[in-house]
Amino acid sequence: MIFKGRHLLPILIASLTAGSFSSCTQQQTSNNTLEASAVPVEDPKEKSAPEAKVVATANIDPATIPASKIADAATILGRKQVPILCYHQIREWRPKDSENARSYIMPVQVFKDQIKMLADSGYQSITPDQLYAYLTIGAPLPEKPVMITFDDGDLEQYELAAPELEKHGFKGAFFIMTASIGRRGYQHYMDKQQIKDLADRGHTIGCHTWDHHNVKKYQGEDWVTQIEEPTKKLETITGKPVRHFAYPFGLWNHDATVELKKRGYFSAFQLAEKKRDDENPLLSVRRIIASGYWSPRTLHNSMVNSFK
Ligand SMILES: [Zn+2]
Repeated sequence: MIFKGRHLLPILIASLTAGSFSSCTQQQTSNNTLEASAVPVEDPKEKSAPEAKVVATANIDPATIPASKIADAATILGRKQVPILCYHQIREWRPKDSENARSYIMPVQVFKDQIKMLADSGYQSITPDQLYAYLTIGAPLPEKPVMITFDDGDLEQYELAAPELEKHGFKGAFFIMTASIGRRGYQHYMDKQQIKDLADRGHTIGCHTWDHHNVKKYQGEDWVTQIEEPTKKLETITGKPVRHFAYPFGLWNHDATVELKKRGYFSAFQLAEKKRDDENPLLSVRRIIASGYWSPRTLHNSMVNSFK
């Protein structure tokens, strides 16, 4: 089945991401500790100057990690979770934006204040590759790691968010919905050159399906249309492998983790749900939506409470 009705997309995004939102901020309890690595890593001194302050971390290519070294699912689930934030549109609220929509549309200054809080609080951004190395082989992370992710490929993520991250030495992960690349309309989207530019600047480009349909409903050819073809397209655009995925609306199930793993994905990111897949925790990593209503302090409290 090939999905039709792309005009419904904004409504679907609005209703479902907003629907997921209320559970984003609930607290989660666990007693995990950050583990140090016994696996040799690259010498951090080899890093360039802006990254040199990121102590005890290394960029390990996930493709070089042998399957025999990858921890079992229980070990991965037992590691302390890294706070992962999810952003969508970064723009001023419009009169027509519903109350729910405003929970995930970031007014520009709110976004800048949230990112500044992360920097002022000593957080250091990590990439999906770094997270994967940490979860699979216990590779070390900065003392206060955070992952900053962006879904859908909205133009303002390129024009506004990426420069703001770079101002503070952060790198982001951008999950692109390929159907809307270069689209102009009520919402503008990044074009190919802008996506490549982000990749060239050290940000991660991940896949967010072709046109944002729920992976729980895929059958047969949908996996080709929604996953395989968009992956190839993004790899052609960036000239780099694409191995990290974000679920549309954060919705996923076990079958989807299996299908993504089969297609070579190292990690996949959901939203809000506390439960991760027992067999494939790497394909069901948790994120929270950073709300447009949140002050920097509220964001910080949510990060601390949600990722334990
Ligand atoms: Zn999305």
